Amino acid sequence: MSATRSVSVADSLAEVRAGVARACRDAGRDPASVTLIAVSKTFDAAAIEPALAAGQRVFGENRVQEAKAKWPSLRNKYAGVELHLIGPLQSNKARDAVALFDAIHSVDRDSLCEALKAEIAKQRRAPLLFVEVNTGGETQKAGVLPQDADAFLARCRDRFGLAISGLMCIPPADDMPAPHFALTAKIARRNGLKLLSMGMSADYATAIELGATHVRVGSAIFGERTRKL
Ligand SMILES: *Cc1c(COP(=O)(O)O)cnc(C)c1O
Repeated sequence: MSATRSVSVADSLAEVRAGVARACRDAGRDPASVTLIAVSKTFDAAAIEPALAAGQRVFGENRVQEAKAKWPSLRNKYAGVELHLIGPLQSNKARDAVALFDAIHSVDRDSLCEALKAEIAKQRRAPLLFVEVNTGGETQKAGVLPQDADAFLARCRDRFGLAISGLMCIPPADDMPAPHFALTAKIARRNGLKLLSMGMSADYATAIELGATHVRVGSAIFGERTRKL
């Protein structure tokens, strides 16, 4: 059972890597300009190991506590792991997040900026930061609204002294993703931000065409999740 699954994670990973390379080629982009983040949320260490064994080193998790439970031992076993927090972050978990993650994709409010600024100074450790943009204006979703993004980015810089490297978006599930990717890219461009975290299993090729530098792919690599988030 686990042997079958190991083969399939490695195969799926190889397929996604080939898909990323193909999308880069189609878009006339250097494949080295796109980082594949393997989203391992909800999967345990045994399910993640085949991806590590196949050389994957960049992973995404959406919960601080879950990542804290899973990754320290995997990091002891495999050198060079880069961990990205792609889910919402509560200010009271900023300390753990800064200690554990190499990148945080969900910066979206002043109170969180404040907490991150304090922890980055205290721990002398600065994860790569992305501001999440709620391009669909969905009330239940995290992220700053598109019309508030420029002002928020200015506050990140001027009031909090945070170096923001890029933007992240999660298009509404029922929408065509392309306009959301294009809007995110446009906001990044006018704010001089180089990194774009966008594209998941179903739409990473479209995201790459529209400038994604980081694609977050989970189910296409690890299979369907039994937990929703
Ligand atoms: C779960 C998740 C993904 C991966 O989604 P898949 O459709 O499984 O590829 C990407 N981004 C975020 C923010 C997620 O929570």
